[in-house]
Order: sequence, then structure tokens, then C-alpha cells
Amino acid sequence: MDYNWPKNLDELATEAGAWVAEATSDLFQTDDGWLVGYSDEFTLRLAERGWIGMTWPLSAGGDGRPEIERFVVTEQLLLGRAPMAGSFFPDRQIGPVLLAYGSEEQQKRFLPAMRRGVSKWCIGMSEPDAGSNVAGIATTAVKDGDRYIVNGQKVWTSGAKTSDFCYLICRTDLESPPHKGMSEFIVDMNSPGIEIRPIKDASGDSHFNEVYFNEVAVPVQNLVGELNNSFGQTMRQLEHERGGIDRLASNQRLYLDMRDYADTTDPLVRQQIARIESGYKIGRDMVLRNVLRQTPFAQYSAITKTWCTEFEQQVSEFVGNVAGAETMLWNRVSRNVVYSPAYTIMGGTTQILRNIIGERILGLPREPRPQS
Ligand SMILES: Cc1cc2nc3c(=O)[nH]c(=O)nc-3n(C[C@H](O)[C@H](O)[C@H](O)COP(=O)(O)OP(=O)(O)OC[C@H]3O[C@@H](n4cnc5c(N)ncnc54)[C@H](O)[C@@H]3O)c2cc1C
Repeated sequence: MDYNWPKNLDELATEAGAWVAEATSDLFQTDDGWLVGYSDEFTLRLAERGWIGMTWPLSAGGDGRPEIERFVVTEQLLLGRAPMAGSFFPDRQIGPVLLAYGSEEQQKRFLPAMRRGVSKWCIGMSEPDAGSNVAGIATTAVKDGDRYIVNGQKVWTSGAKTSDFCYLICRTDLESPPHKGMSEFIVDMNSPGIEIRPIKDASGDSHFNEVYFNEVAVPVQNLVGELNNSFGQTMRQLEHERGGIDRLASNQRLYLDMRDYADTTDPLVRQQIARIESGYKIGRDMVLRNVLRQTPFAQYSAITKTWCTEFEQQVSEFVGNVAGAETMLWNRVSRNVVYSPAYTIMGGTTQILRNIIGERILGLPREPRPQS
């Protein structure tokens, strides 16, 4: 079996790597740049290069390029610590979800601006009492003529402060069982009644926020997909969140940089390096199988995220060990060490994903569900 890339993908990787180095040379770069690295300049540069929405169909204003090319480019952006939080959600999931469930009018209205890098988005899913259990959301949207009135609170909303729109999940039918009666909306973040309160994380960064909705009016045209039946849409969105290279390579450049400082004469250190380098290859093959649709994506994205984010935590542990007591003096290392618990929480916790793997892939008995 030949594991080599076709030549054109090697060339694309080289081109993307060189482009990222050049396009970020005058900008702030950070590990985990897809989520916490925000730069309007970089977003516009990426858009101009054609690498936002590159896989979207030509008919929707995309370039119709294969998913494998997005994989190659995204891996280079991650390794280059590109500040791409301004475009990552639209590129990874909001665009694809609108292509799958949005009306033609919504696709025409929202996709071109995402492609141009001038439309920033956040995801309003989690609430104080509904994180793992998305079906527990309490934010409501009640129809009032040609609009819905939204009330409630979201939390951990990444990028809310810099976003133009929120892709918001609301309860629209209070009588239905929890998994029914939910709908998804596009909400203009400049609407009256929205209050954003930043949350500072352990690393001192405040990319995520609490977002309060107080009598926020949303036009009926902004309902995405089916009224009262969005649970399947939400799950589809989570698959986009879980199966990609961003779950493996968020801190890979940090590993590569810190490896130079490791004592490679120490057999234990050598074992750790071997574990990490083979772990990256295994995780990368898992992601590739998803990208190439060689897996039932819905289920295997749970396996991929579990493996890959635990891998990212191993990297964090390794760089902390390499720096030793000096970890506190190295901002880049200490930032990653305190940030790393987030890897196995965001996008669905490892415990929840292990439940999915056990129940839906291995066919183990289901955990008892509360009666409703
Ligand atoms: C960096 C970061 C960015 C984020 N960005 C966003 C965002 O942009 N938008 C958004 O909507 N959300 C975002 N989140 C929120 C994230 O999706 C939730 O934190 C996550 O889904 C877990 O929900 P929770 O925090 O409410 O924890 P809980 O659901 O309360 O879980 C608490 C603990 O209990 C465990 N647990 C819960 N239920 C079970 C069960 N049935 N079986 C076994 N164990 C269980 C969990 O695994 C966890 O360890 C972000 C989170 C982080 C860390």
C-alpha cells in the first residue's frame, strides 16, 4: 500500500505552508488559532486567497474543490498558527449547514459574505443548564406575526463579541418532548436586546462569552430548516465540529517547537516523542477517513474527536514536562497547559462521546434515560 499523497496535494501543502508563513508574518499568531486567534486582516487575506468555503459548490459561489484539499490547506493553517477564528465557524460548519438545510434565499444572502471574509459567526448552543444535553435548552423563540421573539441565555459562546450573526438553537414548542420542539435561527448580533458578557478563561483569554437575549426580534425568514424539528440538524452540525483536523493539530506547532528543547538522550523522553509522533499519524488517518467519507461519519466523528483531543492533551503534558519548572516563564507553554482541559470539553465532552461510541457503535446497553 502506498501512503504517499498524490503529487498535487504535496504541492498544495507546500504552497499553503509558504502562504501562511507570509500572510501571518506581520500578525499576532497563537496556538489554537482557529478558535482564539482573531484577526480581521488575516480573515480578509484568507478570503482573497480563496480558502474560505473552498469546497462549497460553484452554484453556491464556492470553488467546488474536494474536501481533501480543504484538509491539506487547513492542516497548514493550523501548523502555521494562523489567527483564523474570524472565518473558521462559517467555513467548517455554518456554511455547510446552510448548504444542507438553508433556503435558496438564505444561501444567496449569507454565503457570499462568508466567502469574502466579511461575515463573522458564533454558535449559540450551550446554556447554563444545557451543555451535554442539548435537548435541555430553555431559550425560547415565540412566533409573533412575521417575526420570532427570543428570550433566554447562552453560555461559552465563542467569538460572540466579534460576530455579525449567531446561529442560535431555540425551543419553539414548549409542549413537545425535549428532543422535539427545537428550531434553529440566524440572529443578527446587532439586534436590540442582545447583551454580551465576556468570560475570562484560565489562560486569561476571553474569546467566549455569556449572551443574553431579551425580547430579541428575529424575522421569520431567518428560521433555518424545519420548524420544531432541528435536533437532527444540530447533530449534523456537531459532526462537522468533531471529525476535522482542527481537533488534532491545535497545538502541534507547539510540540514541534518544544521538541527541540527535549532531552532526547533520555529513554523516557524518547518514548514520549515516539508516542506523540505515532499518535499524530493515527489521528490524521482517522480524520482523513472521515474527510474521504470512508466511515459512517456521524458515529466515527465521535471516535475521531475522542482520540484526537486526548492526543492534544498528551502534547500539552509533554511540552509542560519539557519546560519543567520553567513552564511558568514560557507564556506559550503555560497558556497551553492551562487551556488543555478545554480540548476534551468543547464540541462534546469525552464522556458523552464515549457514551455514543459504546451505545451506537459497539451496541452496548444504553444508559437509563430520565423519563419525560
Ligand atoms: C473552549 C470552549 C469553547 C466553547 N465554545 C462554544 C460555543 O462557541 N458555542 C456553544 O454553544 N458552546 C461552546 N462551548 C460549550 C461546550 O459545548 C460545553 O461546555 C460542553 O458541551 C459541555 O457542556 P457543559 O459545560 O454544560 O458540561 P455538562 O454537560 O454540565 O457536563 C459536566 C460533566 O458531566 C459529564 N456528563 C454530563 N452528562 C453525562 C452523561 N450522560 N454521561 C457521562 N458523563 C456526563 C460531562 O462529560 C462533564 O464532564 C465551548 C466550551 C469550551 C470549553
